[in-house]
Amino acid sequence: MPAPIQIYNTLTGQKEPFQPLVPGEVRIYVCGPTVYSYVHIGNARTFTSFDVIVRYLRYRGYRVHYVRNFTDVDDKIIKAAQDSGEDPIQLAARFVDAFAEDARALRLIEPDVSPRVSDHIPDIVAFIAKLLERGVAYESQGDVYFAVSKYPAYARLSRRNLDELRAGERVQPGEQKREPLDFALWKAAKPGEPAWDSPWGRGRPGWHIECSAMSMRYLGETLDIHGGGMDLLFPHHENEVAQSEAATGKPFCRYWMHCGFLDLEGAKMSKSLGNVVRLRDALQRVDPEALRCFFLSTHYRSPLAFSDKSLADAELRMEYFYETLRRVDERLGGQDVGPGPVHGQPERFLAEFEAAMDDDFNFAGALGSLSGMFAAMNELVERPPVRDRALVGRTLAQLRRQVRAVASVLGLLEDDPAAWLLRRRERAARAHGIDVARVEQLLGQRQAARAAKDFATADRLREELRALGVSVMDTPQGPVWKVSPPR
Ligand code: AMP
Ligand code: ZN
Repeated sequence: MPAPIQIYNTLTGQKEPFQPLVPGEVRIYVCGPTVYSYVHIGNARTFTSFDVIVRYLRYRGYRVHYVRNFTDVDDKIIKAAQDSGEDPIQLAARFVDAFAEDARALRLIEPDVSPRVSDHIPDIVAFIAKLLERGVAYESQGDVYFAVSKYPAYARLSRRNLDELRAGERVQPGEQKREPLDFALWKAAKPGEPAWDSPWGRGRPGWHIECSAMSMRYLGETLDIHGGGMDLLFPHHENEVAQSEAATGKPFCRYWMHCGFLDLEGAKMSKSLGNVVRLRDALQRVDPEALRCFFLSTHYRSPLAFSDKSLADAELRMEYFYETLRRVDERLGGQDVGPGPVHGQPERFLAEFEAAMDDDFNFAGALGSLSGMFAAMNELVERPPVRDRALVGRTLAQLRRQVRAVASVLGLLEDDPAAWLLRRRERAARAHGIDVARVEQLLGQRQAARAAKDFATADRLREELRALGVSVMDTPQGPVWKVSPPR
């Protein structure tokens, strides 16, 4: 039995050995997008972090039940629908579809269940009814509120001072609360808003209740892991704990995990601040795996600053990975190298990867171990330290297998190297205004000249390509071109 994974638990403020409720199984719930617009790359960072965490838990042999919701009933959605004159549920459904497209493009694995609020109103109503029955919620003019004073452990998760919180909150106009910290479980319908029947009249759920109701519906009363961005810690997750534990009398979640922000120009990227880069726009400019690689360059709990340079660096790193794979695959040629001794200790990189991931999913460390494998492969391909070809072949094959295993956890290197490198060249060409069709045409002419041993013409065509900003390298598989603008 390997040592347990250590997870930083927001609830206790420390790293703890991960012990799920049922040995070998993990029930994880991640707060998903509020679908009133396209997701931005800050959202994408959080979703990618949990994507890699789920992949790693599966790699470690856990049976993972992964749920990520869609908030499709919400004030912001209603506002957006009023602005565009669309039906709010339809507007939300449109952005659910857009999210699914973006998630596929970013190679996020599909959660086992992606529940929507609008499909779970009966669960939510039953949950609220239970809270009323237990005397921890109250009805007020068609609204229902959770009575925070009835849950003594309130603010324990976010470690806030309850008195200060109370002093800082005011009951807003239109709210029917007894206490400022009480929060809405159900809101009476206003004209033009989506509404459902309930024992308290027509209305719609408040925000927080959905995650308690839907997580329990699919994962039971106690979750192993609950995740989201740090902005959700208070009040969203705090309120989830309060209403869930007040309803069941059981611990709601064993390990709370919060992802750090993606910042743009020193501020959290957020739709309300308007400093956003949409995921789909980013993916027009950068390869999806390069974006993932950028997200993984820092620990998931640390802030991460977005810049064009950091994306360009991530893409260069991916290019180096793919270029190495192209050469290694060429060297191995798909042949079975068979068992036998290997050079050095290639397995140590895999051990390093697992140690990094076991230590609270240290993504940067995991990427570092992947880079170590690539450095070792490059050395073996370029300047093999030993002359024994079979030994080099076996070592390369083992490193290649390890790369595959690690990359499948990180969601990287899923493409064919030649195809990836071609796309990268085409993107670079577009960015420099180079006409790819023209490049291909000149390359074709140059190949024909070379075949006819007309080297003067071949050299002239190479110069012509250089003037366009393209350099050519001849490889056993034919010419490979690269964008290298004249300096
Ligand atoms: P929302 O659609 O605003 O509910 O956010 C969806 C998810 O993205 C939540 O888990 C948020 O915590 C997370 N999130 C929002 N903004 C950022 C950001 N700038 N960096 C990282 N995660 C974020
Ligand atoms: Zn939530």
